[in-house]
Amino acid sequence: MEQRLVRLRDALSQLGADALITEKKENRFYLSGFTGSTGWVIVTEKEAFLVTDFRYIEQAQEQAPHFRVVNNERKPVEAIARVLKEAGVKRLAFESSVSFGTYQEWSKAFDGVELVPTSGLMEKLRMYKDPSELAIIREAVRIADEAYQHIQGYIKPGVREVDVALELEFFMRKRGAEAAAFDIIVASGVRGALPHGRASEKVIQAGEMVTLDFGAAYKGYNSDITRTLSVGEPDPKLKEIYDIVLRAQIAGVAALKPGVTGKEADAVTREIITAAGYGDAYGHSAGHGLGVEVHELPNLSTVSPFVLEPGMLVTMEPGIYISGLGGVRIEDDVLITADGHEVLTTSTKELLILPV
Ligand code: ZN
Ligand code: ZN
Repeated sequence: MEQRLVRLRDALSQLGADALITEKKENRFYLSGFTGSTGWVIVTEKEAFLVTDFRYIEQAQEQAPHFRVVNNERKPVEAIARVLKEAGVKRLAFESSVSFGTYQEWSKAFDGVELVPTSGLMEKLRMYKDPSELAIIREAVRIADEAYQHIQGYIKPGVREVDVALELEFFMRKRGAEAAAFDIIVASGVRGALPHGRASEKVIQAGEMVTLDFGAAYKGYNSDITRTLSVGEPDPKLKEIYDIVLRAQIAGVAALKPGVTGKEADAVTREIITAAGYGDAYGHSAGHGLGVEVHELPNLSTVSPFVLEPGMLVTMEPGIYISGLGGVRIEDDVLITADGHEVLTTSTKELLILPV
């Protein structure tokens, strides 16, 4: 945690700011460890403050031992203004994602403080996972892998997609997850053509492929896995598509190493899928960063400028979607290491054909 403040202060001094304020939940948690729903983190050159209200004072003191917890007794903006004054802050970096109303309020209340807009400052620091984060993420990935193993015995003709989603979530929570990392995608048969087909009441039929995309939220971090399996013998065309997506996914993972850009990694998968004649059916980017948010930097896309470096964690998830037929996506969580990468997800990627 203290190392994160050191890196932030370094970034602030490069920006010419002497403090940062963040109200974004994920950034507040990343810097302080505080999980409450309301609070403002202010990091100055020498100190770190957490402004919150009476509901959270005890929790904040316990979760954020490196922070001075400030009780906001009246209006938060007044408590924050007092902190800034006391700490002698002159140039305060703030995240441009704050609302216009907040910006106006702060401009008025923070006397003698210049507000410096920043975008992606915290998100860029968060790209590099430290060992304590990786230990938690490995567990989040393991829970998802176990859930995938478990669900193979549950999916059969006659089961609804929503029941599969519920069973996945129930299993993950029994294994220690706080929640599903996001709305679980269970897309069977023709619904497989919807890249974000949230589980519906549709009943799974024999001969359908089912795409499952889910993850575990665990101790503030997330995992994210997609597998597509077949309930009985699949349509030959979908089987062919599966093999193409698998080839693209394996090649995409193999390309992940320090020095490669997000754009280059994306292109490896896109070239294979395009050469097979399905370029137009692959309408999303190859992957994204993963951590306290399910989608964070660096992204792997046709326009991503990010250069991969050790400690970054990304997904690799190409897919092909054919309206009226179905779709296939395969997704792993991959850590960039000094000499290449480590695939954290361990579930098999061979096409599973469940008995009917
Ligand atoms: Zn996913
Ligand atoms: Zn993903």
